[in-house]
Parts: sequence; structure tokens; C-alpha cells
Amino acid sequence: MAAAWQDVVRDAAAVREAAAAAVDAALLAGVLMRTGEQPHASDVVNYAPFTLLPSAVPRALFEQAYAVQQDFNLLVDAISQNKEFLEQTLASTIKVDDFTARLFRIHMQVLEEGLAQTVFLGINRSDYMFDCGLDGTAALRQIEINTIAASFGGLTSRTADVHRLVLKVLGKTEEASRLLPNNPAKGLALGIAKAWELYGSQRAVVMFLVEDVQRNIFDQRCVENELWNRNIRVVRKRFRDVFEQGSLDASRRLFVDGQEVAVVYYREGYVPQVYDQQNWEARLLLERSRAVKCPDIATQLAGTKKVQQELSQPGTLEKLLPGCPEAVARIRATFAGLYSLDQGEEGDRIAATAIADPERFVLKPQREGGGNNLYGEELREVLKKIKDSPERTSYILMDKIKPQPALNYLLRAHSPLQVSECISELGIFGVYVRQGRELVLNQAAGHLLRTKAIEHADGGVAAGVAVLDTPYLV
Ligand code: ADP
Ligand code: MG
Repeated sequence: MAAAWQDVVRDAAAVREAAAAAVDAALLAGVLMRTGEQPHASDVVNYAPFTLLPSAVPRALFEQAYAVQQDFNLLVDAISQNKEFLEQTLASTIKVDDFTARLFRIHMQVLEEGLAQTVFLGINRSDYMFDCGLDGTAALRQIEINTIAASFGGLTSRTADVHRLVLKVLGKTEEASRLLPNNPAKGLALGIAKAWELYGSQRAVVMFLVEDVQRNIFDQRCVENELWNRNIRVVRKRFRDVFEQGSLDASRRLFVDGQEVAVVYYREGYVPQVYDQQNWEARLLLERSRAVKCPDIATQLAGTKKVQQELSQPGTLEKLLPGCPEAVARIRATFAGLYSLDQGEEGDRIAATAIADPERFVLKPQREGGGNNLYGEELREVLKKIKDSPERTSYILMDKIKPQPALNYLLRAHSPLQVSECISELGIFGVYVRQGRELVLNQAAGHLLRTKAIEHADGGVAAGVAVLDTPYLV
């Protein structure tokens, strides 16, 4: 991938001037985060980290990622409705992974009782890297699909304006005009609003289920404010609030603090650490309720790494999306090599291969949120230790994607301005709403580009590793 800004990255004076303008533009545009020191305060905030320069992204791969998003929406929706598939696919995992097992038990429990709602709202983000082949050409490779609490759709709706200004400060007015508009906040709100409308009560609210510590509140507020613009009332509650103030009436309508809830939009609930006994009870209450869940627990399970690995097996996509060969082909074209570590010969073989050559692979447990995967020497050591134990099946192996690095500056509060070799990850937001058997909405809702220095193998923006970026199509 050609470095688009070769001429400016080495011009120290120009970079300093642009960086100062960029930071102020980010603050003005609302590209904000609460600080690590005062994570509960909105009166001391700072800009969310971002790149000084937009990063080059091959146009063809960008378009490919958009073109496959509706297919991925269909696929996730199909998996969530396929009890047998989830049961079979997760069978080995839930034997050894307690968190997945608990989610799965709730899934079974609500199915047994019978679902109280026929409207389903999915908001996901499919993430990709650009794998650089030996001949230098790049290919789109899916890293994962996030089916719960996919974040940064709000803040990224505001970053293109910042990068447009930066390019102008650097004398690149023509290039600035080519940055694409991008508004996932609006797209996500459209989906939530549609689900709210189908729920069918003017009085009912949309409930954002939020963390105890909400450093990324402004990202959520972007979506929230889009709902207020549509005169839809939004409340923010934690699992603890639901446990203390939540109840179901005889027809399983959900009330929290006296307000009927039409839609629960989870921005929390994807890591085991948040669940104590009371929070598990709150989760179960929400899942049993008539409120539209975004996502419902089956859709959360559809986003596990184990499901992702199973999807790459020959014939699986065809079974899940019968009669859709084109969608299947588009989806499959984005897959990297994925390998099961289930007990058996095949698992033994790939484990041995990875121990011999760990640089080729990433070892992934069933966790979300960044910082959980293993690479290199650490991968080798862990795999050596667990290769003969059932614990091995709580992981999957994936081919490591190797993108071509490019130079950029990562702007972070209280950090020196220095050039870094960087790689980027592109996310496409998907939104869909199903009522009964009918898909009433199915869209790509915008994109997110995150960029990190190459010395970090893992970790997103919230983890303090990646920063927000804007694609510059080349
Ligand atoms: P999480 O659910 O924790 O976000 P991901 O699968 O998205 O897990 O991995 C986290 C990060 O690790 C990614 O954002 C990416 O930077 C890196 N990563 C994951 N899979 C690969 C891969 N196959 N090749 C290279 N880097 C990867
Ligand atoms: Mg991820």
C-alpha cells in the first residue's frame, strides 16, 4: 500500500502545526473520552486518541467490505435462529469455558420458556485487516465479527471532519475533499428506532445497558442523541440497576424504575468479570422479557470465536444460508485460515504446527474486548502446556494477518508527538431488524478505521492501543 503522505510525515514544523490544529478540531467536533484519572467525570475530559493523518486503504477492499455486510447480517441472524447449530458448534467449548457455558444455559432456558418477542435487532461490526501477499497485493481478511456492544460508531462519525481539516492545514485541499462522509451513529439509531417503533408503545423507552465505569460515554451519547432527535426517550442503566429496579409483568413486559422498556441496547455484558450472581440474574430477566434485545443472547453466542472457526469449515455456510450461493461466496472470500483445537488428530496436528512455527498463527480464547489473544513465544508456551488437556478446546487458532505498515502519528493526550510504523483495521457496521420471519431492515451503517503501532499485536481503542482513523481510499 503506497504511503499516501510521504512528503509531509518528515516535515517536523508542518506536522507540529497540523497536530495542534487536529487536537483542537477533535475537541470541537466532540471526539471525546473521559480520562483514566477521572473516569466518572464529564467536566474533565480529553480527546479520544486518533491519527494525525488519514490512512491509505485500497478502494477495492473497502468496497468489498461494504458489499459483504448485508450478507454477514443475514448470516448472524440465521445462526442466532439455529438452535442445533449453536448447540453442536459450542458443545466442546462449553465443557471447558465457563462463561460461554453460562450464556448458553440462559439461551436454552429462554428457548424452553418460549421467546416473548418476535422483533430482533442486530447491530454488529465486522472487522478486517489487509493481508499483504508475497507479490505485494493486499487481500481483505476478516478478523472477527462483533455481535455485542460494537463500539466507536459514535466518535467515528466525527473523525472525518477532523482529518479533512488536517489535510487542508497541510495544503492538501484536493485530497481533503475526497474523504468520505461516514455516520454510523445515525445508522445505528435508525435500527434502534425501527425496533422501538415495532415494539409499539409511545411511552416505552430505549435502555442503554452501560458499564459501571463509562469512559467511552460520548461515543454512546452520539447514538443516544440521534434517538432523542427522533423524540425517543433513552435511559442509561447498569446491570445492578436492573437487578434492583427491574421486573416483568404478567405478559413479560420489562419495567425498570417504573418505566417500560421497548429496547435494551447492550454496551456491556461481553466479559465474564462484570457478572456476579446478581448481574447474571439481571441478564436472565432481560433475556426473558418482551423488550427487544440488541443483541439477544443467541446473537451474542453467534459472535463467539468458536462459531467463527466453525463457519470456515467446508459446507457450513451453505447449510446456514441455503439458496444463497453468491452471499456464501462473498462471505467466504473474506475468511482467513481458522483451525479447531478440539480433541482428535486434526487438532493435534495443527497444535504441533503452531508450536513449531508460532509466528504464523494467533491463539484466541472465547473472549471479547481486546488483549486476550496470544502470539509468538507466548502462544508456543501456552499451547505446549495445554496441548494434551481438554482446556485446549476453549481456544481456536487463526492464521496471522500481516498488513503492510505505513508511517503515521498517533495523537494521544500527554504523549510526545512521534512518527510510528502503523497498521490499520477496518470495521463495517451492520444493522438489521427482523419481525417474525421478515427482515424489515438490513443495511451497512458506516465504517470505523482503527490504527495502531506495529509493536502491539493486540488491543483496540478502549484498551489504549489503537486510535481512531479515517480511510483515504487509494
Ligand atoms: P477481540 O474480541 O478481543 O477484539 P479480535 O479477534 O478482534 O478479539 O482480536 C483483537 C486484536 O488482535 C485485533 O484487533 C487485531 O489487532 C489482532 N488480531 C486478531 N486476530 C488477528 C490475526 N488473525 N492476525 C493479526 N492480528 C490479529
Ligand atoms: Mg476485535
